[in-house]
Amino acid sequence: MSRSVLVSGGCGFVGSHLIDRLLRRSDLEKLVVVDNLWTGARQNIAHVTDPRFSLQIADAESFSSSQRFDEIIHLASPASPIWYMREPVRTIKANIGGALNLLMLLKPGGRFCFASTSEIYGDPEISPQPESYRGSVDCTGPRASYDESKRCTEALLFEQQRVSGLDVRVVRIFNTYGPRTRIDDGRAISNFVIQALTTGILTVYGDGSQSRSWGYVDDIVEGLERFFWRDSISHRGPLNIGNNHEVSVLRIAEFVSSLVPGSRIEHQPPVPQDPTNRCPDLTWARHVLPGWEAKTGYQEGIERTFEWFRQQIAATMRSKAR
Ligand code: NAD
Ligand code: UDP
Repeated sequence: MSRSVLVSGGCGFVGSHLIDRLLRRSDLEKLVVVDNLWTGARQNIAHVTDPRFSLQIADAESFSSSQRFDEIIHLASPASPIWYMREPVRTIKANIGGALNLLMLLKPGGRFCFASTSEIYGDPEISPQPESYRGSVDCTGPRASYDESKRCTEALLFEQQRVSGLDVRVVRIFNTYGPRTRIDDGRAISNFVIQALTTGILTVYGDGSQSRSWGYVDDIVEGLERFFWRDSISHRGPLNIGNNHEVSVLRIAEFVSSLVPGSRIEHQPPVPQDPTNRCPDLTWARHVLPGWEAKTGYQEGIERTFEWFRQQIAATMRSKAR
């Protein structure tokens, strides 16, 4: 059956890649993106010419429409700590308010998909983290607007599933990187790449021994598409989606630095409550999405990301020179 789909946050980094994939589907009838361009950019979807696609510039928490959708994919929320810490109330509204509002635009029997995060595991005491792990989080800490609003939205959706049978798909996405991240996004890999290409000084917070599992965006959105689109599924989530190769921040910075001779690493004070480690247990993902794996190693993914940013920066400099 052909589907009408609404994607909130579709002008963002992950959302714009997911849209590219969804528009390749012949069983997609219509795709409406709702985005307020807070952390996203029109540029990310400027290449889209498909007549099934339309963009609504609006807040997910107040967008209204007479249309009802077969599937809603709620991605609207900043993911970068510096952005969500700067506007915590807006972050909470985007996640929880967005979900509450968008639920009303779903057709009866429709499916609601949500991008949750590995942040809900906080600073984990076990590794890797299975979906059953309840996390080590701080509801009054500096990351609370993000991780607690993701937790609350998960609660909202799974409670709706319990009381009304809502078709829910929740993914917990681990650190994802790649082309179309904002130049001023502030997350580690894009920051290191831009710093290497501009100032030549890569800022590592603390000693850099903290680790993450870095997923290249193409691999991650393939997992999202497969989980969100498939009808018959034995497990509706939450589902960890990520690369399970854990690498320290220092090693990532060293690799990026090796791409630009003369660049160097500078250590800065550690970030308060920076999680020390993060690695997905992918047992469920392998079971639900047979054959799917985040295959791209960090060196290959960073080289591709590096090349994309190099071209962006060169294009910006050319247009300034004109
Ligand atoms: P992003 O900041 O690039 O994209 C978010 C998009 O949502 C932007 O286009 C922004 O303008 C839009 N937006 C924000 N608030 C909105 C609102 N109230 N109404 C409408 N639009 C709004 O972030 P991303 O990395 O693409 O992340 C997308 C989703 O995936 C987020 O929900 C994020 O929490 C989740 N996620 C991402 C990662 C990651 O590493 N990228 C990891 C875990 C979870
Ligand atoms: N980080 C860093 N320098 C930067 C940006 C990030 O050392 O310029 C570190 C950050 O402190 C964290 C890790 O890299 O330990 C991942 O940070 P990011 O913001 O990408 O994601 P998150 O903290 O949400 O996992």
